[in-house]
Amino acid sequence: MSFSSLGLLPEFVSHLSTLGYASPTPIQSEAIPAILAGQDVLARAQTGTGKTAAFTLPILQQLASNTQHSRNGSQVKRHSVKALILTPTRELAIQVQKSVDDYAQGLALSAGGLTSVLVYGGVSIDRQAAVLQAGVDIVVATPGRLLDHVTRGNVHFNALAFLVLDEADRMLDLGFKDEINKILKAIPKVQSETQHIRQTLLFSATFNQAVFTLSKKWLNEPILIEM
Ligand code: AMP
Repeated sequence: MSFSSLGLLPEFVSHLSTLGYASPTPIQSEAIPAILAGQDVLARAQTGTGKTAAFTLPILQQLASNTQHSRNGSQVKRHSVKALILTPTRELAIQVQKSVDDYAQGLALSAGGLTSVLVYGGVSIDRQAAVLQAGVDIVVATPGRLLDHVTRGNVHFNALAFLVLDEADRMLDLGFKDEINKILKAIPKVQSETQHIRQTLLFSATFNQAVFTLSKKWLNEPILIEM
C-alpha cells in the first residue's frame, strides 16, 4: 500500500517521504480514502498508530483544493474556520497543531496558506479571541475554552467542513460531554456558502457506550474502522 494509492496528491506524498513516512500505517490506509471520499468515520485507534496523520492528511488535501474552488463555484471566505479538531488536553492540542503545520508545508496552498490556532484554557483568552475574530482556517482546541469563545461570540462555524473528535474516550473521561454537545449544537450541519455537508470524524482509543452515544448523535452513517 502506498500513500498515492490512497488518493493523496504527488506533491503531498513526496513531502511525506521527506518526513520519513515511506508508507501508510494501517489506520491511515483505512481512514484516508474514506475521508477523501467524503464519509464520516468512527475509528478505534491507539496513540502511536499514526491516527493524527490519518485525519490530518486528507483534511489538509481537501482544504487545499477547496480554497480554490467550491462545488457550486462560490468561494468560501478566506480564513473562516473550515476545520475544528477537539482534543482532551493542551499537550495533545499542541502536538496535533504541530502535525498540521508540518504536513501543510507539503501542499501548494493558495497564497497565504492555511492558518491555524491553538485554543486551550489556563492562558489569556483575549489573545485567542483576537486571532479567532481576525479569521483562521483550522482551530485545534480543548472543549472548555472553546465553548467559552463560542458563548462569547468570538468564533463562528458557518464554513466548517471538518470536525474531528480526537481521543473521544479521554474527552468523555475528563467530563467534557456537555461542552462537546454544546459546541456541536452551535455548528451547522451544512456550510452556508457552499452547501457542503460537514464531515465528522471520531477517533477513540477505546469504544464504550458513551463513545457510541456521541457517535450516534453527531456522526452521519460513519464508516467503522477498528484497529
Ligand atoms: P500518532 O499515533 O498520531 O500519535 O503518531 C505516532 C507517530 O508516528 C508520530 O510521531 C508520527 O510522526 C509518526 N507517523 C505517523 N504516520 C507515519 C507513517 N506513515 N510513517 C512513519 N511514521 C509515521
